Amino acid sequence: MDRDGDQFVHCGLGHRHWGKYGAAGLLLHHGGTVLLQQRSALSLGPETWGLFGGARERDEPPVTAALREAAEESTLDVGVVRVRGIVSEDHRGWSYDTVVGDVESRPEVAPASWESKDARWVPAGEVTDMNLFPAFAISWPKVRDAMRRPVLIVDTANVMGSRNDGWWRDRHGAATRLRDQIDAVEGFRLPPFDVAFPELVMIVEGKARGIGDGEHVRVVTAEGEGDDTIVDTVRQYAGVPDADVYVITADRELKRRSQEAGASILGPRWLLGQL
Ligand SMILES: [Zn+2]
Repeated sequence: MDRDGDQFVHCGLGHRHWGKYGAAGLLLHHGGTVLLQQRSALSLGPETWGLFGGARERDEPPVTAALREAAEESTLDVGVVRVRGIVSEDHRGWSYDTVVGDVESRPEVAPASWESKDARWVPAGEVTDMNLFPAFAISWPKVRDAMRRPVLIVDTANVMGSRNDGWWRDRHGAATRLRDQIDAVEGFRLPPFDVAFPELVMIVEGKARGIGDGEHVRVVTAEGEGDDTIVDTVRQYAGVPDADVYVITADRELKRRSQEAGASILGPRWLLGQL
């Protein structure tokens, strides 16, 4: 593989960084603990603790780079990581991307390259007690807030009704179109992430029934009232640890019911602006 990203560069802020094309690291968490790497005695910041990660290759997306580096430096099976988003630090001409993900159950992880001395799951509240790699110490307060699992629940009828694309002539076709557009989004602008990869759920009713799941979008058909199904879906996700549940609707009564069930509200315009 072309490893020409493995060199030092100066950023626009005058620092010296490893990674010609920027660098990326993996913040993997489970149940309030985070996976940290202790750097080897021979590496930069010897024996300090930080994230598995490293230099990006030319044109390599941050998620690919972070998972590749974690797989090279540890025994972690990166296939089980569910990536939720990216928190970026822009240094003008150079960037560090923290790729945030979680795992359903916490695997044992051991170091697997000369760059790593140790690997350990550390409670989030104890991270600052460790001897941290300086750059990670700076980014930690921000990335800690991103240990979240975003979920978007789309009130399909309401979002369709907010744009004039002829949806009233063919509700099934319009719902399919909306599903495909949501499916095609490569990342949402959804704080605390700079780029978020939320779980996507569309609730459909009436003539939009039966459109089927997309590649990333789960489609739930309301047997009765669409609003009741949306509120039930909010309740299911709101009980999941670290979940941030958002309902996309402009309907006043549904907003109230969704908020009561534990969701935040985003308007149809917010969603349509991301497509
Ligand atoms: Zn810099």
